[in-house]
Amino acid sequence: MEKLAIFVNYLSRKKYLPLDTRILSLFFFILLTASLFYGTINIFTYKFTSKAAMFTVWILWWPFLYITLLFFSRLWCGFLCPISLANEWGNKLRTGKFINYRKWAFVPFILFFVIVYLEQMSGLFLSTSVTLWFFLLFFLLAFLMGLMLSRFAFCKLVCPIGTILGLFSRLSVIGLRTKKEICETCPKKYCLLGGKKAPCPMFINIPKINSNKDCLLCANCVKNCPHDAVHIGVIKPGKELIEKVDFTMAESYFIMALFGLAAILTANGTMLARKFLYSFSFYMIGPTLRFADFAIGIGFFILLYTLMAYIMSKVTKTKFKISLSELGYYYLPLLFMIMFYTISFGFLGPWLPINESAMRLIKYFFLTLGGIWSIYMIFKIPLPNHVDLTTKQKKIGKSILIVFLAFITIIWAGFLISNNTTFGDKESVISMPGEIIKMDSFSMGFTPNVIIAEKGQEISIEIDNIDIMHSFDLNEFNVHEFLPAAKKKVIAFTPDKVGEFMFFCNVPGHTEAGMRGRLVVVDSIDDYMGKTKRKLS
Ligand code: SF4
Ligand code: SF4
Repeated sequence: MEKLAIFVNYLSRKKYLPLDTRILSLFFFILLTASLFYGTINIFTYKFTSKAAMFTVWILWWPFLYITLLFFSRLWCGFLCPISLANEWGNKLRTGKFINYRKWAFVPFILFFVIVYLEQMSGLFLSTSVTLWFFLLFFLLAFLMGLMLSRFAFCKLVCPIGTILGLFSRLSVIGLRTKKEICETCPKKYCLLGGKKAPCPMFINIPKINSNKDCLLCANCVKNCPHDAVHIGVIKPGKELIEKVDFTMAESYFIMALFGLAAILTANGTMLARKFLYSFSFYMIGPTLRFADFAIGIGFFILLYTLMAYIMSKVTKTKFKISLSELGYYYLPLLFMIMFYTISFGFLGPWLPINESAMRLIKYFFLTLGGIWSIYMIFKIPLPNHVDLTTKQKKIGKSILIVFLAFITIIWAGFLISNNTTFGDKESVISMPGEIIKMDSFSMGFTPNVIIAEKGQEISIEIDNIDIMHSFDLNEFNVHEFLPAAKKKVIAFTPDKVGEFMFFCNVPGHTEAGMRGRLVVVDSIDDYMGKTKRKLS
């Protein structure tokens, strides 16, 4: 770890870094954008297709951010992000208006969910044109915000990646800190005013910095400080949580809301939300249905958290507001591990040589790790109002936190990742000549999920896609169909070989979450039926 920090520190002191790396990354960004626009671009003798671009962005880059976050904090933002470069160019052309970002601190959290919802509805991870629009829109918006508002307004208020990286960077093993004794006596404070480089793009009070949350590791302050008092070093992961740095109610609620979102992204989470919905006879489809899923998942965790914070405020005789602002942070490590495997393995899973049982074991492993880390935090982060508490009150307070943690972990281990109710053969159907198979596709499954068909005979399926954008893919027979939100689609193909083949939804994370089924192709349906009957008798 020490070597890693020394390396990042070394990079931050290089004259042309991180500008060089960001320009290089902008070059890649243009390359990706061009291939999404043109379909294929030629780089010397190599053809770079839009398919390769989509793979690079959503299967490699997106999980890569999560995997590197613990070790590199927000290095992506400072050293590689091309979008922040657009924000910076806007800043250079015009001094924008200063706004009190603290007052608007809740905005990025709300926008985060709006963007995730739009992603679900638009099929961002699947569609080259939607990805292209997102790229261009973000780039343009960052530039315009740079023109209108001071410093990196886009990173502070809008960017969903910045929002999530900022939250989880609180657990990172490296961070930028200052030598406080030098800073206290420093007369000019060039790190704040700017010097060789622009002042901090995130308005951080650098001499007193003790959190990774907003620091992009852009290294401006490292270069501006004439006393060499700013350095990037190893820090104890989660130290800032133990010191309760910059705890806010908005962020605490955001942590809980992410638990709800992650639950809804699992097959069983969505199924549970829909059972709840249908029990009140609310039948919806498409965008409204997904919105209801989100509202139920997020609302459930928010309500539960509010209740727990209320009980805690009574036990610890603390203001309810303070309990609400502090208690979410105890669960940040657990949330990180859940999001980590949801994103990393959900997206990379189908490309890794790991079978379903091994994948489940990996999930349990990360869940346990997150649980243990959160227990550690429960014992390390002081309770609200801890100085005035009796030993008995402290014990009750910690017990409440542990019960809540156990509750979340049990929901995840016992239900959300067990996959008992969604995997396996739910319903099978035999394809008969001239008949159209009726199939439902939804988050996260197909019903029926087993089709038995005869070799050489055309299979027609009418798929009723009841919620968000999905796809129906069957590689062996070259079937690749988008399923737009809340629309029906008929697909037909003729299997020309015998065997068992997997059909699946190609949206990253959906196959892994349960959107897959089996096509069993046999020589003769009659023989197959005979054999099945004999087996049953
Ligand atoms: S917050 Fe977003 S736009 Fe800003 S540097 Fe980070 S990833 Fe880039
Ligand atoms: S404190 Fe500010 S200037 Fe320094 S590296 Fe972080 S974001 Fe950049």
